[in-house]
Amino acid sequence: MKRSLWVICLSAALVITGSGLIVLTATGAFDRSESSKSAGPAPTTSAPLTVPGEPSTTATSAPPRPASTTTRYVFPVGGCRADASQSHHDYPASDIFAAKGCKFVSPVDGRVDEVNRVDSWDPKTNVGRDRGGLSVSVVGVDGVRYYGSHLSAVGTDIKPGLAVRAGQTLGLTGNTGSARVTPPHLHFGISWTTPAGHWWIRRGAVSPQAFLNAWHDGRQLSPVSMVAKGKRAYGVERGCRSYC
Ligand SMILES: [Zn+2]
Repeated sequence: MKRSLWVICLSAALVITGSGLIVLTATGAFDRSESSKSAGPAPTTSAPLTVPGEPSTTATSAPPRPASTTTRYVFPVGGCRADASQSHHDYPASDIFAAKGCKFVSPVDGRVDEVNRVDSWDPKTNVGRDRGGLSVSVVGVDGVRYYGSHLSAVGTDIKPGLAVRAGQTLGLTGNTGSARVTPPHLHFGISWTTPAGHWWIRRGAVSPQAFLNAWHDGRQLSPVSMVAKGKRAYGVERGCRSYC
């Protein structure tokens, strides 16, 4: 553990001296995944990281902004250049390719829904539930759920029920889960809400591209009606139907 902390401190120091842009992405305290290189069952080491002199970016005591008729949306990757993929394999979602360590921010005011801090993905079994690796989902004040996965770290303060604001850092981009074999990216999904653990809905149920493109360009576009329409079209919930 001592050695692990040393390595983390060292890499943080390198980040600070290396690039002003990346310093922004490394502020705050995060639980990091270090399992991406391991070949066997993925043990995940969690270690808090605080960069000296940098205030935490997570505002645990911030009261939720009251729901308004004009919800504000922001692009979910901050501090780095990133564009949303305009298609996705097999089910609706977008892969937003960005360097490892970019901020995954809440696209909307809301509350944290589900958090996964452990990378359990095994390429031999490729279990659908585990493909996201480290992930955070938020239910917005608009009633829509937003999901980001393959994170390299999750903010230590980010817990289910926590009130968050649009633009607040939830974690850092990476390539945990099935992205272990791809370049780092944020898998981003939009869906209706479900009971906890319904990962086949949470991973994405409505094409997010039009919304991501709008938010990327600073335009406001709400997915509320599209999500309601998608839920009606999906019909009765009978568990995972594709790419399970
Ligand atoms: Zn994806």
